[in-house]
Amino acid sequence: MVENTMATLIITIVVLVVIFLLLREVMCWYYKINDIKSLLEQIVLKLNALSSYKVGNDIETDTRMKPMEVKVETSSDKTEGMIPCKSCGEMRKPGGMCPNCGSWQT
Ligand SMILES: [Zn+2]
Repeated sequence: MVENTMATLIITIVVLVVIFLLLREVMCWYYKINDIKSLLEQIVLKLNALSSYKVGNDIETDTRMKPMEVKVETSSDKTEGMIPCKSCGEMRKPGGMCPNCGSWQT
């Protein structure tokens, strides 16, 4: 009697596990979980490729992922072409009125 009960229990557990695995497969198919998973894996791969894409690394050869050129204004750019004012000595654009002292120079 005890053996019969144990056999029934084991068979029941095995059948439940098989049913669970079959239902799991049906659920994965029905909700396209496998498709979603493969898409997410592709997204992760492409994001990793993007994040490992460092500035100066094959930028010239790989035009697909060429980053936008950002012009950073430096202090040398600001004073480029500027001349010192003859009246106040501040750097100013040549010609016109000095924004600092208001004197006109050519
Ligand atoms: Zn001036």
